[in-house]
This record gives sequence, structure tokens and C-alpha cells, in this order.
Amino acid sequence: MLVLKFGGTSVGSVTNMTNVKNIINDGNKKIVVLSAMSGTTNALVEISETIKAKNITEAKQLIAALNDKYQDVIEELLQDQTLANEATAYILEVINTLLTCAEKPHNELLYNTIVSQGELLSTFLFTQFLKQQGINAQLISALDFMRVDKAHEPDNFYIKQNLNRIINNLPEADIYITQGFICLDAEGAVANLQRGGSDYTATIIGAAINAEEVQIWTDIDGFHNNDPRFVQDTHAISNLSFDEAAELAYFGAKILHPQTVMPVRDLDIPVRLKNTMAPAAYGTLITNKIHGEGIKAIAAKDNITAIKIKSGRMLLAHGFLKKVFEIFEKYETSIDMITTSEIAVSLTIDDTTNLSHIVEELEKFSSVEVDEYRTIVCAVGNNIVYHPDTPKLFQILQDVNIRMIAYGGSNNNISLLINTSDKVETLRKLNRYIFETELAE
Ligand code: ADP
Ligand code: ASP
Ligand code: MG
Repeated sequence: MLVLKFGGTSVGSVTNMTNVKNIINDGNKKIVVLSAMSGTTNALVEISETIKAKNITEAKQLIAALNDKYQDVIEELLQDQTLANEATAYILEVINTLLTCAEKPHNELLYNTIVSQGELLSTFLFTQFLKQQGINAQLISALDFMRVDKAHEPDNFYIKQNLNRIINNLPEADIYITQGFICLDAEGAVANLQRGGSDYTATIIGAAINAEEVQIWTDIDGFHNNDPRFVQDTHAISNLSFDEAAELAYFGAKILHPQTVMPVRDLDIPVRLKNTMAPAAYGTLITNKIHGEGIKAIAAKDNITAIKIKSGRMLLAHGFLKKVFEIFEKYETSIDMITTSEIAVSLTIDDTTNLSHIVEELEKFSSVEVDEYRTIVCAVGNNIVYHPDTPKLFQILQDVNIRMIAYGGSNNNISLLINTSDKVETLRKLNRYIFETELAE
């Protein structure tokens, strides 16, 4: 069986939902994972923030605007009166849930409840739409099988047992529709897989049912060689290995949630990226096969904090790095980049929840400097560390101030730490140095 995930834009309008219907209605049994309609999760986050700021009147206005939007969607999407009435009743339920949240004290569970409504809405409406078109679709709730454990990792055993039981109990359905992003936590409360998490839902499901392939359908024709939001003339890459895709997603390529390939990599289940608006385009196929060598793509990850830890006594002081790492381990903060010299070590983190505690403990045996608002730009490709074209990358040293370089940590990745204000220029210049010279040669 295939698992197909459609993102926000793909279900963001009636025209696009019709495209999705045409793609999935091929007579083969499949699981379809949907995101919220584009703009909805952001609107829900705004509602949650407004409630947190105790601006209840404004929150209610935002909820009313969401209601209007969805009433319009029903009107355009559903001509069948019974299906439209059921959808109206469902939206009313969601709106009432949001209004109840507006009256409650804000906390994490409230946030999670609010942001979960987007996928609940899109999957309900889309299932009604498929039924209207005479398609044998069955809505299955992610909250009945998708769960994370105490470490926020997918509870794979639970997911596999429950998802397979649910599917086996509904053998007559052709298409199972479910929500991306949302899940239960270890205590059984509503939670989520972080922003962009529907991609992750799809591969977790793919692993649970041992799918033939997981397809991520989005609004672009595959994984591009640079960030198309900032750089012109980027192009889709036909093939990526799991390792290359994992590095690019982790280091900021928005097209994939950072964890997407993890559940399927060891099971060798291919992940295919496709464009809902241009289904004939090849897209990108991610497998364990390695295609080509040298730099394939560049990505950037913002909100990085650099920490420089200096110790006059590092010379001969073995055990220094151990002490440093133990502090990061204690505060469950992972390190992305690291460089060392005789007297100092610089490293970067993206989770600053425990930064003040970490700095306090480091200062007991070193002097510490913290730089926020940095960006990691990384170049990824098989064996780039040894490739003859890779030195072209370092022409960037003449243009921007590079704070750190990590070279050789893996054969597939070279990372540069820069000021976020230099990001766009860096991405564009690297594009020119690495990819445009390729074309000129
Ligand atoms: P969806 O809502 O379908 O999950 P996303 O917005 O999360 O879609 O991801 C697709 C977007 O990712 C593209 O429209 C593009 O702007 C952005 N993007 C960033 N980097 C890349 C890249 N390397 N390749 C393709 N798209 C990228
Ligand atoms: N709707 C969620 C978000 O906007 C999850 C997703 O789109 O993947 O982050
Ligand atoms: Mg996404």
C-alpha cells in the first residue's frame, strides 16, 4: 500500500482539492495524510497567542473569521445537502471548541488543542468531498493510533498495532484519510509533531504498514538544489539518498520536516516528492541509493545560537570537552556544529530553552560568549569533502563573515555559521559559485 501526504497548499483551495482527488482516485488502496488548509495553522497559532495575551475579544474575532472562511469552503466544495449539513455541524463543533479554549487559562495543552483543529477540519471536509464524488473513502482519526512517548519519539509499537487494527476493521474502504501533524502524548493528551509535522506523520505511517512508498505531495516539483524562496533559477534534484535528504531537512530545507526520512530509512521504504499542481513532473526520489558525487544542494537553518567556551587551561586539560558535553547532555540540548582550538571550543544549538542554566554551569570553569541570531548554511552531497569542485564553495570567504566552519564531520556535509543578516547573500553567492559555474563549464 502507498502512503500519500498532501500539504497545506495542496488542500488549500477547492481547485487544489480537486487535483488531489484526481491523483488519489486510481483504484488502488492507500492511506492519505492531510495537512491543514494553508494559512489555518498560522491562524490557530495566532488565536492561541491572543488568548495567551488575554485579548479574548480579539481571539473571538479571529475565531469568527475562521468560521467565515470555512463556511465559504463548504459552500464551494459541497453541493450535496446532507454532506454539506454534516460539514456545517462539524465546523460548529470546532468553533465551539475554540471558543471554549478562549475562556480557559492558557497552557501547553490549550495550545495543542487549538492547533490540532486545522487537520481535523481539512480531513473532515475532504472526506465529505470524496464521498460526494462517489469515492469509497474512510476517515480514520490520527488520535486513535498516532502517539509519542515520554521522549516525544513515535511510539512505534503502539502505532503499528492500532493503525493495522483500525485498517483491518475497515476492509471495504478504498482510501483511508487521516490527519498529519497531530498525535497523543505519553499521557494520552493531544499533542503534535511540531510545525511541518505532517511529512513525519506520513513516514511514521509508512513504516507502521511497511508501505511500498511514501509520497509527499506539495506545491513545488521536488527537492531543489537551493532555497527557492531566496534564490532564483533553482532546480529539482531527481535523486537523493536518505542521508543527503536527512542532512538537508535537518539543516533547514523547509520542504521536509527535519525527521521525515528517519522512520523509513532503515526499512528502505522510498520517499517520493511530487507536485500536486504538476503531477507529471518527475519530482525527487529519496532512496538508499547514491547518485553522483559533489555538492547537490544548499540549505539554511535560522535561529541558531553560538556559544564560545574559553579556558586558559585547555592546553593539556584533557577532560575539558567531557565536562562541556555533560552539561549539554544534562539539559537535553543537542549540539549542531562544533569547532575547537587549543584554548576554546565553539558550538551551536537551536534549542535555547535551558541556555541560561547551561551558561551558568559553563561559567564555573570557563568564560562564555553567546551569540544569537545566527544561521547555519550547509552544502550537502555524497563525498563532497573529497570532490574537486568543492573548493569553489570557499570563494564565499571573500564575501561574508564566516563565524565557524565544520568540514569533514561527515563526508556529505560542510556547514558554515554566518550572521542571519548575510543569509540571502550567502545562498545566492554560493549558488553562483557552485551551480552556475557548473553550467558555464
Ligand atoms: P507543504 O505545505 O506542502 O508541506 P511546505 O511549505 O512545508 O509545503 O514546503 C514546500 C516549500 O518549501 C516550497 O514551496 C518552497 O518554498 C520551500 N522550500 C525551501 N527549501 C526548499 C528546497 N530545497 N526545495 C524545494 N522547496 C523548498
Ligand atoms: N499544519 C501543520 C503546520 O502548518 C503541519 C503541516 O503542515 O505539516 O505546521
Ligand atoms: Mg511542510
